[in-house]
Amino acid sequence: MFCPFCRHPDSRVIDSRTSDDGLSIRRRRQCPECGRRFSTIETASLNVIKRSGVVEPFSREKIMSGVRKACQGRPVTDSDLAVLAQKVEESVRATGVSQIDANEIGLAVLPPLRELDEVAYLRFASVYQAFDSLEDFEDAITTLRDEHSTRGGVAE
Ligand SMILES: [Zn+2]
Repeated sequence: MFCPFCRHPDSRVIDSRTSDDGLSIRRRRQCPECGRRFSTIETASLNVIKRSGVVEPFSREKIMSGVRKACQGRPVTDSDLAVLAQKVEESVRATGVSQIDANEIGLAVLPPLRELDEVAYLRFASVYQAFDSLEDFEDAITTLRDEHSTRGGVAE
Protein backbone atom coordinates (compact mmCIF):
# COMPACT_ATOMS: atom_id res chain seq x y z
CA MET A 1 0.00 0.00 0.00
CA PHE A 2 1.69 3.18 -1.22
CA CYS A 3 1.37 6.33 0.83
CA PRO A 4 -0.96 8.62 -1.18
CA PHE A 5 1.05 11.67 -0.13
CA CYS A 6 4.70 10.75 -0.66
CA ARG A 7 4.39 7.38 -2.47
CA HIS A 8 6.41 5.62 0.19
CA PRO A 9 5.82 1.91 -0.51
CA ASP A 10 5.05 0.95 3.07
CA SER A 11 2.57 1.94 5.75
CA ARG A 12 1.72 0.99 9.29
CA VAL A 13 -1.79 -0.04 10.34
CA ILE A 14 -2.82 1.91 13.41
CA ASP A 15 -6.47 0.87 13.61
CA SER A 16 -8.74 -1.71 11.94
CA ARG A 17 -12.47 -1.67 12.04
CA THR A 18 -14.97 -4.06 10.47
CA SER A 19 -17.96 -2.40 8.81
CA ASP A 20 -21.43 -2.96 10.30
CA ASP A 21 -22.36 -5.46 7.60
CA GLY A 22 -19.14 -7.38 8.24
CA LEU A 23 -18.20 -7.29 4.57
CA SER A 24 -15.36 -4.83 4.58
CA ILE A 25 -12.55 -3.69 6.81
CA ARG A 26 -11.52 -0.07 7.21
CA ARG A 27 -7.91 0.40 8.19
CA ARG A 28 -6.35 3.57 9.46
CA ARG A 29 -2.74 3.72 8.30
CA GLN A 30 0.25 5.91 8.96
CA CYS A 31 3.18 6.46 6.65
CA PRO A 32 6.51 5.86 8.41
CA GLU A 33 8.21 8.22 5.95
CA CYS A 34 6.10 11.41 6.05
CA GLY A 35 4.02 10.56 9.11
CA ARG A 36 0.69 11.36 7.44
CA ARG A 37 -2.41 9.28 8.02
CA PHE A 38 -4.85 7.81 5.54
CA SER A 39 -7.43 5.06 5.50
CA THR A 40 -8.12 2.15 3.21
CA ILE A 41 -11.17 -0.02 2.79
CA GLU A 42 -10.67 -3.66 1.97
CA THR A 43 -13.48 -5.72 0.52
CA ALA A 44 -12.93 -9.35 -0.35
CA SER A 45 -13.84 -10.00 -3.96
CA LEU A 46 -16.48 -12.61 -4.64
CA ASN A 47 -17.06 -13.97 -8.12
CA VAL A 48 -19.78 -16.14 -9.53
CA ILE A 49 -19.03 -18.76 -12.16
CA LYS A 50 -22.02 -19.04 -14.44
CA ARG A 51 -23.06 -22.25 -16.13
CA SER A 52 -21.61 -20.89 -19.37
CA GLY A 53 -18.21 -20.60 -17.66
CA VAL A 54 -18.36 -16.80 -17.61
CA VAL A 55 -17.10 -15.31 -14.33
CA GLU A 56 -18.79 -12.18 -13.01
CA PRO A 57 -18.78 -10.31 -9.69
CA PHE A 58 -21.37 -11.35 -7.13
CA SER A 59 -24.37 -9.04 -7.32
CA ARG A 60 -27.16 -8.69 -4.79
CA GLU A 61 -29.26 -7.15 -7.57
CA LYS A 62 -29.06 -10.37 -9.57
CA ILE A 63 -30.11 -12.42 -6.55
CA MET A 64 -33.08 -10.10 -6.07
CA SER A 65 -34.18 -10.24 -9.68
CA GLY A 66 -33.83 -14.03 -9.76
CA VAL A 67 -35.89 -14.47 -6.60
CA ARG A 68 -38.42 -11.79 -7.58
CA LYS A 69 -39.67 -14.04 -10.40
CA ALA A 70 -40.43 -16.80 -7.91
CA CYS A 71 -42.27 -14.29 -5.72
CA GLN A 72 -44.78 -13.09 -8.31
CA GLY A 73 -48.18 -12.72 -6.70
CA ARG A 74 -46.74 -13.34 -3.23
CA PRO A 75 -46.69 -10.83 -0.34
CA VAL A 76 -42.95 -10.23 -0.66
CA THR A 77 -41.61 -6.69 -0.84
CA ASP A 78 -38.43 -5.34 -2.38
CA SER A 79 -37.01 -4.73 1.07
CA ASP A 80 -37.69 -8.39 1.93
CA LEU A 81 -35.71 -9.29 -1.17
CA ALA A 82 -32.90 -6.92 -0.22
CA VAL A 83 -32.63 -8.54 3.22
CA LEU A 84 -32.67 -11.97 1.60
CA ALA A 85 -29.91 -11.01 -0.85
CA GLN A 86 -27.83 -9.72 2.05
CA LYS A 87 -28.31 -13.00 3.95
CA VAL A 88 -27.25 -14.94 0.86
CA GLU A 89 -24.14 -12.81 0.44
CA GLU A 90 -23.25 -13.19 4.11
CA SER A 91 -23.69 -16.96 4.05
CA VAL A 92 -21.58 -17.29 0.90
CA ARG A 93 -18.86 -14.99 2.23
CA ALA A 94 -18.85 -16.85 5.53
CA THR A 95 -17.57 -19.92 3.68
CA GLY A 96 -14.45 -17.94 2.82
CA VAL A 97 -14.45 -18.76 -0.90
CA SER A 98 -13.66 -16.14 -3.51
CA GLN A 99 -15.43 -17.95 -6.36
CA ILE A 100 -18.68 -19.84 -6.29
CA ASP A 101 -20.81 -21.66 -8.85
CA ALA A 102 -24.06 -19.95 -9.77
CA ASN A 103 -25.81 -23.15 -8.81
CA GLU A 104 -24.46 -22.96 -5.26
CA ILE A 105 -25.73 -19.40 -5.02
CA GLY A 106 -29.14 -20.79 -5.90
CA LEU A 107 -28.85 -23.32 -3.08
CA ALA A 108 -27.77 -20.58 -0.65
CA VAL A 109 -31.00 -18.72 -1.51
CA LEU A 110 -33.21 -21.60 -0.39
CA PRO A 111 -33.00 -21.40 3.45
CA PRO A 112 -33.73 -17.65 3.75
CA LEU A 113 -36.38 -17.84 1.03
CA ARG A 114 -38.10 -20.64 2.89
CA GLU A 115 -38.35 -18.40 5.95
CA LEU A 116 -39.70 -15.60 3.81
CA ASP A 117 -42.38 -17.34 1.73
CA GLU A 118 -42.91 -21.05 1.34
CA VAL A 119 -44.72 -20.86 -1.98
CA ALA A 120 -41.93 -18.80 -3.51
CA TYR A 121 -39.48 -21.23 -1.94
CA LEU A 122 -41.14 -24.20 -3.66
CA ARG A 123 -41.12 -22.40 -7.01
CA PHE A 124 -37.47 -21.48 -6.65
CA ALA A 125 -36.46 -24.93 -5.36
CA SER A 126 -38.20 -26.60 -8.27
CA VAL A 127 -35.80 -24.85 -10.61
CA TYR A 128 -32.59 -25.06 -8.59
CA GLN A 129 -33.04 -28.58 -7.31
CA ALA A 130 -34.27 -29.62 -10.74
CA PHE A 131 -37.59 -31.04 -9.64
CA ASP A 132 -38.77 -33.17 -12.52
CA SER A 133 -41.83 -34.87 -11.15
CA LEU A 134 -44.83 -34.30 -8.90
CA GLU A 135 -43.16 -36.58 -6.35
CA ASP A 136 -40.34 -34.07 -5.93
CA PHE A 137 -42.90 -31.38 -5.07
CA GLU A 138 -44.71 -33.77 -2.74
CA ASP A 139 -41.48 -34.59 -0.93
CA ALA A 140 -40.61 -30.92 -0.50
CA ILE A 141 -44.11 -30.10 0.75
CA THR A 142 -44.08 -33.07 3.12
CA THR A 143 -40.78 -31.84 4.55
CA LEU A 144 -42.23 -28.36 5.09
CA ARG A 145 -45.35 -29.84 6.74
CA ASP A 146 -43.33 -32.11 9.03
CA GLU A 147 -41.28 -29.14 10.14
CA HIS A 148 -44.42 -27.11 10.83
CA SER A 149 -45.77 -29.82 13.09
CA THR A 150 -42.51 -30.21 15.01
CA ARG A 151 -42.37 -26.42 15.42
CA GLY A 152 -45.35 -26.54 17.78
CA GLY A 153 -48.22 -27.78 15.68
CA VAL A 154 -50.01 -24.50 15.13
CA ALA A 155 -52.64 -25.08 12.45
CA GLU A 156 -52.30 -22.98 9.34
ZN1 LIG B 1 4.15 9.27 3.19
